Amino acid sequence: MELTTEQKDIVSAAREFAEKEFRDRAKEFDEKEEFDLSIVRRAAENGFVGVFIKEEYGGAGLGFLEHSLITEQMWRVDPGCGQNICSASFGAEMIQAFGTEGQKQFYLPKIISGEVIIGTAITEPDAGSDVTLVKTRAEKRGDRYVINGSKMFITNGCTAKYLLVYAVTDPDVKDVHKRCSIVLLDTATAGFAATRIHGKMGIRASNTAEIAFSDVEVPAENLIGQEGRGFYQLMDFFNMTRNHVAAQGVGVAQGALEMAISHVKKRKAFGGTLSKLQGVQFKIAEMATRIEAARALYWRAAYLLDNGRLDPALVSMAKWFAGETAVYVANESLQLHGGYGYIAEYDIQRFYRDAKIIEIYEGSKEVEKAVIASELLRRIY
Ligand SMILES: Cc1cc2nc3c(=O)[nH]c(=O)nc-3n(C[C@H](O)[C@H](O)[C@H](O)COP(=O)(O)OP(=O)(O)OC[C@H]3O[C@@H](n4cnc5c(N)ncnc54)[C@H](O)[C@@H]3O)c2cc1C
Repeated sequence: MELTTEQKDIVSAAREFAEKEFRDRAKEFDEKEEFDLSIVRRAAENGFVGVFIKEEYGGAGLGFLEHSLITEQMWRVDPGCGQNICSASFGAEMIQAFGTEGQKQFYLPKIISGEVIIGTAITEPDAGSDVTLVKTRAEKRGDRYVINGSKMFITNGCTAKYLLVYAVTDPDVKDVHKRCSIVLLDTATAGFAATRIHGKMGIRASNTAEIAFSDVEVPAENLIGQEGRGFYQLMDFFNMTRNHVAAQGVGVAQGALEMAISHVKKRKAFGGTLSKLQGVQFKIAEMATRIEAARALYWRAAYLLDNGRLDPALVSMAKWFAGETAVYVANESLQLHGGYGYIAEYDIQRFYRDAKIIEIYEGSKEVEKAVIASELLRRIY
């Protein structure tokens, strides 16, 4: 598979943007656990936010492959900063797939232009991998939903203007898969509170928050999709977004590999540079091969998705394998940096911390394997 000229241009432009806008500031953002959101707005102005959104809603009308290619380049330069840009539209997939025409016309152009950041709130203190355990309630009262409950680990929780909230709308339905719906909330609404979570191991420039809802009133027309179909919409949403997380993993790994190569070519030992040692060369070869395999997986998964031939098993393979690759490559790269890799001055220690998230969020690696197995076991060969 070969990228088109347009796709190659997108890759170069995204790389150039990331180098110029945040390469030199990434260390400081990580240390201070903050980000300069004007960079997200500039990314949007340059067309890097929500490229999968259709032209009739102001988007570029490109695919999830292009969205993932941009993500890989942003994460390659810095994962925490890349996360700010690439998650600014996290939830637009859901609005585009399930929203009404009016919702799409109203929200999507604002996301693409960088006017607003959005997020998606699913996880709760007692419900993560098993989303059927969520307790946050969106109770229908006349022409509104009243939301009560809490959410945990929500990306952009303090910075998002709108959040898509996954909540129980009918607790009495026997089938747990039919109890929930997705409701879009303006975070300026009374009763909404977001508290930033400090002390994350990695992607510290990204905002992660704990959310509390206390009688938050949302117009009933803010339901996204159908009432009671939230679980199924969520699974479709993950099939669009997990590939994107796979691209994040490939980006961290590629960045870490480049640091390793640069370091071993300079570092002197045993009468030459580290790069002359065959044991070191084997490490470089193995890192690069795993990255190529992970990239091929996400390219193909995204290509099929963009061409109406979604393969959920392939999406989960890409997400799981890219996560494992990110952790493996960051670890090996740090190893090749020796003691220097262990101190804050060197970027590899940050990438090492950043890589781990890929194996946890939007489906832990074990959940991905469960998806792969269930898909394969129900196929007839
Ligand atoms: C930085 C960050 C950002 C996040 N952003 C968001 C966000 O924007 N929105 C949102 O809703 N959530 C978000 N999350 C939450 C994230 O998606 C969850 O943490 C993740 O889904 C795992 O859920 P959990 O933490 O409750 O772990 P649990 O569900 O308690 O699982 C713990 C571990 O148990 C194992 N496990 C779980 N299920 C299985 C299984 N079926 N088979 C085998 N092993 C299993 C896995 O090793 C897993 O890691 C974020 C988390 C972090 C850390």
